[in-house]
Amino acid sequence: MEQIDAVVIGAGVVGLAVGRALALAGHEVMVLESENAIGTGTSSRNSEVIHAGIYYPAGSLKARLCVEGKAMLYAYCAERGVAHQRLGKLIVATSPEQVQALDSIVAKAVANGVHDLQKLTATQAQALEPALACHAALLSPSTGVVDSHGLMLSLQGDMENAGGLLALVSPVQHIGLKHGTATHPIRVTTQDGTELACKLLVNAAGLNAVALARGMEGLDPSLLPQAHYAKGNYFTLAGKAPFSRLIYPVPEKAGLGVHLTLDLGGQAKFGPDVQWVDDPSDLQVDPRRGDAFYAEVRKYWPDLVDGALQAGYAGMRPKINAPHEAAADFMMQGSAEHGVPGLVNLLGIESPGLTSSLAIAALVTEILAVAS
Ligand SMILES: Cc1cc2nc3c(=O)[nH]c(=O)nc-3n(C[C@H](O)[C@H](O)[C@H](O)COP(=O)(O)OP(=O)(O)OC[C@H]3O[C@@H](n4cnc5c(N)ncnc54)[C@H](O)[C@@H]3O)c2cc1C
Repeated sequence: MEQIDAVVIGAGVVGLAVGRALALAGHEVMVLESENAIGTGTSSRNSEVIHAGIYYPAGSLKARLCVEGKAMLYAYCAERGVAHQRLGKLIVATSPEQVQALDSIVAKAVANGVHDLQKLTATQAQALEPALACHAALLSPSTGVVDSHGLMLSLQGDMENAGGLLALVSPVQHIGLKHGTATHPIRVTTQDGTELACKLLVNAAGLNAVALARGMEGLDPSLLPQAHYAKGNYFTLAGKAPFSRLIYPVPEKAGLGVHLTLDLGGQAKFGPDVQWVDDPSDLQVDPRRGDAFYAEVRKYWPDLVDGALQAGYAGMRPKINAPHEAAADFMMQGSAEHGVPGLVNLLGIESPGLTSSLAIAALVTEILAVAS
């Protein structure tokens, strides 16, 4: 059996950020990825938004790691030349009743350490975005977009420069937490029968993370949540984007509402919506779901013409709450939670996981330092 300090399962943005952080901290590390390329999972099926950290419950990991991760990500992208743009976002009140809700959004943001929101009148908002219809708005200047694939390539490069290894086409099939060697107690077995003994194991397997954790020999399954899946469908807009900033309606109970995001090429897309599904591989977009988008979008962009939206792509949220339950926080289980030294399970890493990736990685190294 080969021995290595640390194994990370999954080469999405989180696994690569964790692999990089462990390699930079001086550990021998190998990232095992089941597919034949990095970032083919949720990390390449999202909005690529650098979130400000406005809406998450105060004190949650999502709030803390989003705000910390945003600052780390902007600094990292600037330093490493990863394409990104601080476009800004408008949160728009589309009815007089929603105007008051803007104040509670500001209060929530301040509680999370986001102090840069600016309240705008309808006239001020329309001066920024002439195509916009609204009663008032908030400007979030620290919201932006990032080239997620460029980011992942850069993280991979840093990890490899620090001596870390990436093994593609290496699906992890079995984990025995007490089946390794005297010095490297955790045994990881891949589909082709390769066995690795390690001291540190980070499960960053995204949609598969709960199932992998459930299969770990030596881990109490009663500590683990149930996995659920919520698809997010996008509809793209042909032609020139009507806005130069991201446009979000005031959030509703079910999600962030049908919002407009832009990619680095300036292409506009609407979504993602929320569609609970049983099968996480179900990534087809049903064009009929687009019908519901028109009325929602016209609340803030009345000029949207019939037939302008086309079915785009979908991403899958790795949920750890059922549809009727409140949205769960990120779950980062270390030895304090499950009693196994050297093991961290990253569960329910949905949005804002891209924004938070560098901060999640930093926290994983802290948890492991305590555990080892
Ligand atoms: C619709 C949607 C929109 C989003 N928008 C945003 C946004 O705008 N901003 C933001 O901050 N966040 C956003 N997110 C969240 C963000 O995309 C995720 O939090 C992030 O990509 C998760 O990265 P990950 O590395 O944990 O998972 P993944 O990218 O899913 O990576 C997990 C990897 O593990 C591999 N794997 C699985 N099982 C095994 C195994 N047994 N052995 C080896 N490898 C395995 C998979 O192949 C995969 O490559 C969005 C998410 C969705 C679904």
